[in-house]
Amino acid sequence: MDRRAFLFSTAWLAVAPTPNMVQTAAQLGPGPAYAPPEDTVFGAWKAAFIDKAAAHDLARDQVTAALAGVIPDTHVIAQDQRQPEFSKPISAYLDATVSSSRVRDGQSHLAAARPWLDPIIDRYQVPGEILVSIWAVESAFGQTQGSDDVIRSMATLAAEGRRQAFAEDELIGALRILFSGEATRAQLTGSWAGAMGQTQFTPLDYLAYAVDGDGDGKRDIWGSSADALASTANFLTKKAHWQPEQSAQMEVAVHAAGFDYALVEGPSKLPSEWAALGVRPADPRPLPEGDRDVACSLIMPMGWQGPGFFAFPNHMAIRAYNNSTSYALAVGLLADRIAGGGPLVQAWPVDQPISLADRIAAQQALTALGYYSGGMDGLLGSGSRKAARQWQISQNLPADGYLSYALIQRLKATAGMAAPSNPTITPVAPAG
Ligand code: CA
Repeated sequence: MDRRAFLFSTAWLAVAPTPNMVQTAAQLGPGPAYAPPEDTVFGAWKAAFIDKAAAHDLARDQVTAALAGVIPDTHVIAQDQRQPEFSKPISAYLDATVSSSRVRDGQSHLAAARPWLDPIIDRYQVPGEILVSIWAVESAFGQTQGSDDVIRSMATLAAEGRRQAFAEDELIGALRILFSGEATRAQLTGSWAGAMGQTQFTPLDYLAYAVDGDGDGKRDIWGSSADALASTANFLTKKAHWQPEQSAQMEVAVHAAGFDYALVEGPSKLPSEWAALGVRPADPRPLPEGDRDVACSLIMPMGWQGPGFFAFPNHMAIRAYNNSTSYALAVGLLADRIAGGGPLVQAWPVDQPISLADRIAAQQALTALGYYSGGMDGLLGSGSRKAARQWQISQNLPADGYLSYALIQRLKATAGMAAPSNPTITPVAPAG
């Protein structure tokens, strides 16, 4: 999957023809004198970047050669600007990611990997089920690593400008890998966002955390599963501070009338403190010993009517890999199932995809009501959920911060925005 997806304005492409159009124009032969804007932009960026790379001790002639002939990749820009028209509930993502077939595949891959994976588990103290789950979600066990030229992708994002510092740093990392001889240009492929190999490392993460897992003296996260999974274990331990013998997440249920749902995504408490408030594991057996004295936060990704989870520090460690609750839950729940655990005790509530127009309208309504002052990006992140909680409290609703389809309609009505905020977008029909 694509890691670290970034959303930004489309201004750059809106004023410029695509590079493909430029190539076509050039192939058509001489025409009216015309300087395509992005040639100017990309050329100017390239010249400035070569200076910057030289200042980072990269050989100017090597950098120039690596960037020779590189033109912006419109596919990278399109992926980077992709904003889904409808956002699906997390339950749809988890059903697809933690499917029965994925669990079976994970179990068989784990069994087959034992001879080379057990030493890695012993060394890093990260469960094999977690490593195999990341391998599954990131690349379908190495099958879908991405085939984009990482140097071209990073150059495209850098020249586009919104994430210039990030993309230039990663590009310098990619060039260091290339110039070191650890990977050829043909090997330096990955997702459009620059994530490479079987467990999708960015170039800088590769340089800092990739290790040789199969003992051949080289680190090859593309061709060696042992190298890729050892690198992931090293990343989780050193960068994300994985805690041995602790869970990532645990399903819980609330057994208390009048529970204060504003505690969701709030303070960390010991499981015993949560129990005193009526929040207890769905599994009635005693907590694993390693989790008893570990403070955790409470998350309820589909609100108070859906399953809740203790989010332990290891949940946050997985989010260092990809900073998303959905991703970390998918990896953690898949690992539990691969280890033989059952499905969730409580079913996800039924909800429907929410249109971009409604997601933005929710932010507009929260702004109009005085609860929100952030961006109107339709992403409904933690700032939007915090504002939603304040509004829910004002309405005497459970303050879980979850903006369901029904709640967004109520929110719009409260703010006097019952009509669709964008009349060109048809309101969502109830899911069948
Ligand atoms: Ca190796």
